[in-house]
Amino acid sequence: MKDYIVRATAADSQVRAFAITSGELVEEARKRHNTSPVATAALGRLLTGGAMMGSMMKNETDVLTVKVRGNGPLEGITVTADSHANVKGYVENPDVMLPPKNGKLDVGGAVGIGIMQVIKDMGLKEPYVGDTMLVTSEIAEDLTYYFASSEQVPSSVGLGVLMEKDNTVKCAGGFIIQMMPFAKEDTVAKIEENLKMVTSVTELLDKGYTPEQILKELLGNVGLEITDTIPTQFYCNCSKERVEKAVASIGRKDIQEMIDEGKDIEVKCHFCNSAYHYTIEDLKQIIKRSR
Ligand SMILES: [Zn+2]
Repeated sequence: MKDYIVRATAADSQVRAFAITSGELVEEARKRHNTSPVATAALGRLLTGGAMMGSMMKNETDVLTVKVRGNGPLEGITVTADSHANVKGYVENPDVMLPPKNGKLDVGGAVGIGIMQVIKDMGLKEPYVGDTMLVTSEIAEDLTYYFASSEQVPSSVGLGVLMEKDNTVKCAGGFIIQMMPFAKEDTVAKIEENLKMVTSVTELLDKGYTPEQILKELLGNVGLEITDTIPTQFYCNCSKERVEKAVASIGRKDIQEMIDEGKDIEVKCHFCNSAYHYTIEDLKQIIKRSR
């Protein structure tokens, strides 16, 4: 199944909702960063949530970044998405191994206690920045808390990544349901009942539920209306020129040292792990251009 996001409304627009199938993009991230199972689950959940949050943005050039920083062995997760639901991301320590907790990958333990930062760059002078404490460090609950406390939008977020026995990604997906300010009490109550029936999104994914079916399960009895479907993918817009800026930022003195050592260098993009090669001649040009 190719990855996609379904956008919907319910109860005469009292509710807006998103659901996603993201198995391919999470597997792509796993392959690129060679992440351990628990790192794959943590990164995969944030990529899945980030892709949906990216698709909420209005303008072509809007960029959303979610950073999770904790005191656990994973240290941090960074995910960036655009309004077309192109998403990319990485974890600080991709090879973290932890024993399972209650039979599940211990994402909360890998992340630890910390904060979540959401940065929305909408082309204004200053980007919007929202900082919240991590509630469970399991990602979905942390995003729910972010929406409530930072954006004042009561939401319900479910995210899941399911692994194969060989540690590749079997499937991934999730949903975001948001109550508009004029949502009526009985609508909210009905949806809360529906949410109680769905104990875990992973369970639905395992049963092979599509994003449409997930939304039907959650909003089927409150007038679900699917508005559109958009593709989503792991995509990085890095290039040798873009990475060159990072090389230039280390300063002329350090670049000169590399030249003096007479060795070509290789620089990897954090987000997608693509390697870029710079020869001594390239480095000399970088110094020249930075003058
Ligand atoms: Zn890249």
